[in-house]
Amino acid sequence: MSRVYLDYNATTPVEPQVLDAMLPYFSAEFANASSIHTPGQRARSAVETAREQVAALIGARPQEIVFTSGGTESDNHAIFGSVNVLIGRTANYPPNSAEARECRVLLSHNKHIITSKIEHEAVLHTCQELEMLGVQVTYLPVDREGRIDCESVRKAIQSGRGNPDLPKASVPPPTTLITVMHANNELGTVQPLEEIGRIAKEHKVHFHTDAVQSAGKIPIDVNALNVDLLSLSGHKLYAPKGVGALYVRSGTRLRQLLYGGQHQRGFRPGTENVAGIVGLGTAAEIARNSIASEASRVSALRQKLERGLLERIPQIGVNGALALRTPNTTNIMFRGIEGEALVIALDLKGLASSVGAACSSGAVEPSHVLTAIGLSQEEAKSCLRFSLGRHTTESEIGFALEVIPAAVAQLRALSPTYQKAVSHV
Ligand code: PLP
Repeated sequence: MSRVYLDYNATTPVEPQVLDAMLPYFSAEFANASSIHTPGQRARSAVETAREQVAALIGARPQEIVFTSGGTESDNHAIFGSVNVLIGRTANYPPNSAEARECRVLLSHNKHIITSKIEHEAVLHTCQELEMLGVQVTYLPVDREGRIDCESVRKAIQSGRGNPDLPKASVPPPTTLITVMHANNELGTVQPLEEIGRIAKEHKVHFHTDAVQSAGKIPIDVNALNVDLLSLSGHKLYAPKGVGALYVRSGTRLRQLLYGGQHQRGFRPGTENVAGIVGLGTAAEIARNSIASEASRVSALRQKLERGLLERIPQIGVNGALALRTPNTTNIMFRGIEGEALVIALDLKGLASSVGAACSSGAVEPSHVLTAIGLSQEEAKSCLRFSLGRHTTESEIGFALEVIPAAVAQLRALSPTYQKAVSHV
């Protein structure tokens, strides 16, 4: 059976050129990049070349790139590091002592973060953890298309200065960080980061973006976006899993997340994953050189898929269709169908798709992104994400246009709720 993969937002295959670049660093060039001997220096030089390549993809300077284990670590580092509560002054106490806990809570109570309701779990759960420590968090809503209103960001910012006539305790804590994703993993919607960045800069608030789903798909310029911190992940851009990067604008105050040796100037200790980093660098370079042509090729294929499905299947709709989206992503609601049942039916026919974020597949709850754009629980559970990529071909889209309508028709024929709903139309 031929298999078609339309789940590139979950992960991408390692590009052959990327693998070729990595292979020597598993064997002949295995040295530790921190060793001062000649093989160590060669490994160091490969890491520094990769730093330049990743920096070039996002308009940064090489010294502003920190290699990490992936998007999740980069997000955690940016958020915990900005809020600065993890260690801070608690270092004077034994780590798990009551005093350290109390001190953490006291420090946290004086911070405020702004984020959105549609962030990836790597951001949402980090913010929720901080909330448990007493940090105040504002989760901004999005509109029907999945867009944040910039004015809502401006309004949510707290200066930390109160009315001098009121008691000090009633002053809301100052906003320490704004963290808003660049492109959403489920819908592909791209947020107006330039404007949010301008607002953050005006108010002197740290601005982080999770660019895991946009890096390599749409152009990124950290200066145009006014971001201080940006996360990206290797496995979403044809490099391997388990490697990523955090951009940290020069001068940004950020506490380290991990403690150990002096790797990456002590900022992110741990022996560098040289092969992974070389892979990420090579993938970044390939993406930079092909971003414009790939974006137009892939968006034409997506359009063909969306139009074809809309023509062939009644009672469906594209979520977030009117927003600016990454060229490869489409999220479609198939009324009267359980999304997971459709994913399985399509898988049996050889088509890989997804109900949303790969890491929340199997969750009983409907997607928090889809309910945030106003879908009911039932509607949210009837949506599928198709994400195209570098290896998607016209004939694969043709295949998808054959198997999806057939699978939807089969499932709807078995769905009493759908039959009842259409009999009332
Ligand atoms: N942020 C977004 C938007 C993602 O889509 C993902 C992965 O799906 C992550 C963060 C986590 O990245 P990683 O898998 O590299 O930890």
